[in-house]
Amino acid sequence: MEKSIKQQMQEVKEKALVCTDCRLSETRTQVVFGEGNPQARLVLVGEGPGEQEDKSGRPFVGRAGRLLEEVLEEVQLQRKDLWISNVIKCRACIIEEGRARNRPPRVDEVKACRKWLDAELNLIKPSVIVCVGAPAANLLIHKNFKMTEERGQWFTDSLYAPSVMAVLHTAYILRQHGEEYKQMRQLLIDDLIEAKERTEETQERQQLTLF
Ligand code: SF4
Repeated sequence: MEKSIKQQMQEVKEKALVCTDCRLSETRTQVVFGEGNPQARLVLVGEGPGEQEDKSGRPFVGRAGRLLEEVLEEVQLQRKDLWISNVIKCRACIIEEGRARNRPPRVDEVKACRKWLDAELNLIKPSVIVCVGAPAANLLIHKNFKMTEERGQWFTDSLYAPSVMAVLHTAYILRQHGEEYKQMRQLLIDDLIEAKERTEETQERQQLTLF
């Protein structure tokens, strides 16, 4: 009997959880695999786990994750309806004065880890991918992605999904203040509404071609 997507995803997850294919395995607390609905049509991809994610083993659960959840609720989306993941699965950090501080993942770390995201996306085959922040867009849309110029645009030539878009990272929005913060938060909401509508339209089109 053919295995369900859920079973296949669980098998990929079990392998990823014990991965030691790059140096990040030496400093992580645990691997943070994607979570949500493995049959979701809409997938969100961030850069990688931070401190809270490393502690909990779940993606997007720190302050940035809480803001993401808040805006998802505003557009009537819930984590359980989506698949939420990251480009790399272990926290990238440097130890300074006995404390771990986040750093961007290195090219070789992304190269070593992308097999897990590839496996997730190949199983899900989403209609729409939203890259949360430029690092995910660099990997899934094109290199040298410019968030200031290309945010909110649809890219239809990705290998991973018929429609891919990049939105501002919630960690970036949290660093803004006052009016700037409100504007950026609203931009994220507008982009997520568009992503939701695009997902629904794609589903409707696919259903029509079935009959
Ligand atoms: S970052 Fe990815 S490749 Fe590196 S150890 Fe973690 S799961 Fe493996």
